[in-house]
Amino acid sequence: MATSTAGGWSAVAAAALEREMGPAVSRELAQRVYSSRLLGEDPSLCAAGGGNTSVKLTETDLLGREVPVLRVKASGVDLAGIGPESFPALDLSALRELSALPSLAEEELENVLLQSRFRHLAPRPSIEALAHAFLPPRFVDHTHAEAVLGLTNLSDGEQRIRAALGEKVAVIPYTAPGLALARATLAAYQPGLVGMVWMGHGLVTWGETAEESYRRMMELVAMAEKALPPLPPFPPPPAGDHRRRAAAVLPLLRGVLAAEAASGPLLSVTHSDPATLSLLADERAQGWAASPAPTSDHLVRTGAFPLWVELPGEDDPYLIRRRLSEALARHRTAYREYLGDGEPPFPRAACIPGVGVVGLGRDAASARTAADLLRRALLLKVRASALGPYRGLSREECRHAETRALQVAKVPKAAGELAGKVALVTGAAGAIGTGICEGLLAAGCHVAATDLPGEGLERLERELGNRFPGRVLALPLDVTDPASVKGAFDLLLESWGGVDIGVVNAGLAHVATLSELSLEDFRRLEKVNVEGTLLVLAELGRRFALQQMGGDVILVSTKNVFAPGAGFGAYSATKAAAHQLARIASLELAPLGVRVNMVAPDAVFSHGAVRSGLWQEVGPGRMKARGLDEKGLEEYYRSRNLLKVSVTAAHVAEAVLFFATRRTPTTGATLPVDGGLPDATPR
Ligand code: ZN
Repeated sequence: MATSTAGGWSAVAAAALEREMGPAVSRELAQRVYSSRLLGEDPSLCAAGGGNTSVKLTETDLLGREVPVLRVKASGVDLAGIGPESFPALDLSALRELSALPSLAEEELENVLLQSRFRHLAPRPSIEALAHAFLPPRFVDHTHAEAVLGLTNLSDGEQRIRAALGEKVAVIPYTAPGLALARATLAAYQPGLVGMVWMGHGLVTWGETAEESYRRMMELVAMAEKALPPLPPFPPPPAGDHRRRAAAVLPLLRGVLAAEAASGPLLSVTHSDPATLSLLADERAQGWAASPAPTSDHLVRTGAFPLWVELPGEDDPYLIRRRLSEALARHRTAYREYLGDGEPPFPRAACIPGVGVVGLGRDAASARTAADLLRRALLLKVRASALGPYRGLSREECRHAETRALQVAKVPKAAGELAGKVALVTGAAGAIGTGICEGLLAAGCHVAATDLPGEGLERLERELGNRFPGRVLALPLDVTDPASVKGAFDLLLESWGGVDIGVVNAGLAHVATLSELSLEDFRRLEKVNVEGTLLVLAELGRRFALQQMGGDVILVSTKNVFAPGAGFGAYSATKAAAHQLARIASLELAPLGVRVNMVAPDAVFSHGAVRSGLWQEVGPGRMKARGLDEKGLEEYYRSRNLLKVSVTAAHVAEAVLFFATRRTPTTGATLPVDGGLPDATPR
């Protein structure tokens, strides 16, 4: 079989994908999917899911008639992982008739695109669908190729791009996506051309096959790459511990944004590779950051310009906070001026020399996108500036793009009561810990699941990471080791920029009467249950103080604190000490707006396949002592409470969520989760 690897196209891989999709997907659509993925996998073409593709087909309607159909990429879908279902079928004839209209309001365009779908449950088509419809060739590919943008965005951009790409490519001035762009595209199209440059936006190619259109895209991009100087070697970045600085600065940044930009909790993702740090140290970097984004698709994700922060020389939180406030005030003034009216949105990206390029968002994914795009934009501007002054879109064009309802609708919004919040859970790999992580994640929270390194933590990361992509961070943490506790918090802040909720759950159990209890075993429990609680509470307190956004701490206590059991002295006593530490924390942290509450479950033995440590410790002994099997023991625990219920990890998670979602103004309180045990009622 003939296999071509030039430009990434492989006939073998295309055919394999075709077979994988089966007879329900036409050959053309399968090839459309294949080359779309190839384009999407290259971030220099389709950063952050930019770009769109289409194919014109003939399909059969309900009455058996052959109708011309445009299959075009759905809005907000990333080409890299696209499937045939993300190419909604549109009524091509109806769309083409619109080329007669002189103009079309944005809401009308949105309406027309939705109406033209053959199936009303099909996803919403890309806003650039009209341009795809108007262009005569069967396959149309559109990317935001950086090399092309690097040339078009120079002050002599049109000459540059014409010289680079030659006669077979049309060049049209910047026009916002919609009917006007589609009409300009149609007007500039001529048979014999292979592609078109949309100034300040990107590149379009076409062909009668997916392969032809794809190859033209790659050839033109290679020509543009040739015309753009390569990235110069950067000097080594200035000396300094950027990781330590990030951990010191990011929670302060988060707090300042929450207080002064009314942004609510935001997550941040930082790029601090040597090239980025070196670039930020360049005296021209602030100018590059302030110049327009390469294209409007970047702009809606990074904002028109990032927050620029010059840090003081030392890690003094007071000085850092002041610098951050001043920088934010300058940014807001500039943004207000740029927008003309209305409240400026929160910054979606920041440049902090010595720390890195920081993306900000309601979730880690959008923060990462903003960081990726800003970093890529800065590197592109470095390359382009070697040829001449970088210009990019005008302020007017930027403002128009940013305020467009359709463009903004492309940016996904985080959902859930705890969206934007970050929780750290200790003992996460156990039964109750896993249940709590699941509960927090289902409520929209981002969760740092911590436990001793090993199989349990790895399994948790795999399972929860699959179900809640981008919102699970598994961090090894030994609660008995101060350096390990601090290290895990540092890693969390470096990764996501802050913490809002701490669930102190790690604990150990042991069965022995006082006469039989060895001091060694007692100390083992004391280390985890008391010192571990102390270390985590202390670290949470310090981080909350830096961030100044309040916070919530929930200690997983136990009914044994109120109703201890014989043979359970080490557990009951050490958990009582932990409980008391949490009550002290509620007194000490209240001035920071931090609430500390306790949940007190009765025995939870497992959660799904995860057995609790408590079960492993006490289950066999209790079964033997009472002459019961496993089911019998669960039944014993169920029947001893007033409501006759088995307490589950999901119940404990609900209690944690009650406090974490701040339903009542409560701190220092204990919520029993035990089905009603009068002896254990807190008093
Ligand atoms: Zn585009």
